Amino acid sequence: MAIQSLNPATGEVLATFDEYTPEQTNDILTSTATAWKTWRTTTFAERAACLQRAATLLREQKTRLAETIALEMGKPIRQGSAEVEKCAAVCEYYAQEGEAMLAPQPVDGPGRKAYITFEPLGTVLTVMPWNYPLWQVFRIAAPSLMAGNGVVLKHASNVPQCALAIEQIFKDAGCLENIFRTLLIGARQVEAVLDHPSVFAVSLTGSEYAGQKVAAAAGARLKKTVMELGGSDPFIVMPDADLDEAVKVATHSRCGNTGQACIAAKRFIVFDTVYDAFVTRLEESMSRLVIGDPLDQATDMGPMSSTTLRAELQGQIDRCVEAGGTIRMGGATPKGPGAYYPPTIITDVPRTAAICQEEFFGPAALIFSVSSEEEALALANDTPFGLGGSIWSQDEESALAMTSEIRTGGVFVNGLVRSSLHLPFGGVGNSGYGRELGTYGIREFTNVKSVCVG
Ligand code: NAP
Repeated sequence: MAIQSLNPATGEVLATFDEYTPEQTNDILTSTATAWKTWRTTTFAERAACLQRAATLLREQKTRLAETIALEMGKPIRQGSAEVEKCAAVCEYYAQEGEAMLAPQPVDGPGRKAYITFEPLGTVLTVMPWNYPLWQVFRIAAPSLMAGNGVVLKHASNVPQCALAIEQIFKDAGCLENIFRTLLIGARQVEAVLDHPSVFAVSLTGSEYAGQKVAAAAGARLKKTVMELGGSDPFIVMPDADLDEAVKVATHSRCGNTGQACIAAKRFIVFDTVYDAFVTRLEESMSRLVIGDPLDQATDMGPMSSTTLRAELQGQIDRCVEAGGTIRMGGATPKGPGAYYPPTIITDVPRTAAICQEEFFGPAALIFSVSSEEEALALANDTPFGLGGSIWSQDEESALAMTSEIRTGGVFVNGLVRSSLHLPFGGVGNSGYGRELGTYGIREFTNVKSVCVG
């Protein structure tokens, strides 16, 4: 089966690749397993040097890589450049901090002497989505390599050029040959990869559906999983919120990456006293976004990643309207080439409508009016997801008290929900389990070993 790279702004086929055969895939897995036997014995300084060189290469090739991202999945070039910069930063972060994070920990109590070590285990399979085609990979590859593991990447089928570019970065950085490899394979080959004895774990970022399938397959083989799945983040606007700042961040959060982000604010829960002002200002702000060619530096919003996903979003919006929702702006698929979709605001959707339980993976905001903190929190938690959320209020103490009532892996007060190198990132409920980034991220795929004397 061919793997196709297609420009979502024009529909043009950019390149076609033959999917690796099962034999090719197996040969690569064996090469990575062989490389790992050496890699696990390298020092932290040697692994750090590889990551530092990868960071340098990423920065040197930032423009070219951002163009590849733009061409394959439609991300505006400014946002793509920032993504590449963040990949360089995560390589440097683990190069500098990884050794201390994995240093043996002495434990008082048992025996004459006891300590905990964090040891590598083999190859981590990473199954990745297209929406941050470099960042999602580097945020798991950098800590995994620093911890002494090998990595194989099964990227989303629509971003093969990004997948190959990442492999080339690690190769050119002088990392041990085959310690990071890309597998150009479809979803059906993932189970066979899990069968390889060197693959001890899988980290998947993607939809609930893919998460269920891969977690089940890994479970059947008793292989560890980390699941970074979808989200429907609440954005709670309290009566005393700084509306200028809230609207600015709401626009960025909902429309950045053309709304295709797991941690985008998707449900805006606004106090009735500021509801009209918030909706009017959000509409004005979203109307000002420059929509167009992702390769243009002036562009704020490019196309969605495919016409298929755009049709799915349109279906969800139509069902919102059927359920009683009002389209305040946008809401219709434009004519013309490319997978473009306008910023969209929908109000009045009954909270009981089934559609409220779904993830909207595109630039469509659902806005709800509430009249009490309890109501806001109940609505925020009324979703199967639990990834992120934010609270907007000038009373920081009260907002902080609310954070413990929100059932998500992260809550931000007066700030954009974002992944940070230093903070663990992940979800609860249908948003998945396990953590990436920070100290928790690098320890996920290690053997936490107890060593005791006497
Ligand atoms: P997707 O369709 O689930 O695909 C993700 C990856 O899983 C791709 O590599 C895909 O391969 C693979 N896959 C799909 N079905 C599979 C199966 N049955 N067996 C094995 N592998 C399978 O998701 P997407 O459309 O690329 O990304 C959007 C989703 O990712 C959204 O739900 C978003 O919220 C979520 N996401 C979560 C996070 C997070 O950190 N929590 C971050 C970003 C995105 P193919 O492309 O070959 O099908």
